[in-house]
Amino acid sequence: MELLQQKRFWIFDLDGTLTKPVHDFAHIRDVLGLAPDADILRAIEEQPEAIKRTMLAQLDRLERHYAALAEPSEGVIALLARLQNAGCCLGILTRNTKEFAELSLSAIGAASFFKSIDVLGRDEAAPKPSPEGINILLNQWGADKTQSVMVGDFHFDLLSGRLANVTTVHVDASPRHWPEDTDIRVDNLFELSDMLGY
Ligand SMILES: [Mg+2]
Repeated sequence: MELLQQKRFWIFDLDGTLTKPVHDFAHIRDVLGLAPDADILRAIEEQPEAIKRTMLAQLDRLERHYAALAEPSEGVIALLARLQNAGCCLGILTRNTKEFAELSLSAIGAASFFKSIDVLGRDEAAPKPSPEGINILLNQWGADKTQSVMVGDFHFDLLSGRLANVTTVHVDASPRHWPEDTDIRVDNLFELSDMLGY
């Protein structure tokens, strides 16, 4: 697709996008005592300080567990290698922590594609759907927004891209869809790879 052929700056969500989805968010909410539809990070943020610390420690344990289980999405290494060989800048923007993001990247064999400074977790930028993390990465790269893409599997990924004014790609084989915030929708990373002009 013509829209993707000139893109040089690529920001990816990690969990469920570059990795197969392993996070059982219903279980996480249950362990933390949150409502079934709660925004986990926001709900923790709203707690009194002492409870918040306990919940963050619980969340850390759960996320460490899931990071070790991370498995690569089909086609992820081929896609990243292709982008890297074409000289593209590659970044990660996750609502997880940077530490666990780097653990997951190692677990799927993709750590070498990302400089540490280009992996942003929830402590390096306001969590998605805030566009802050995208803007930080684009500034680091001196990137032009018209050449930049945000790729993810969830609404927050697409919304952050929309708010940052970059092209958004939704990767998802399920019927979930957020058309108002999606520029391009693909079922998987092979399909995305096929759209590249390089
Ligand atoms: Mg995700």
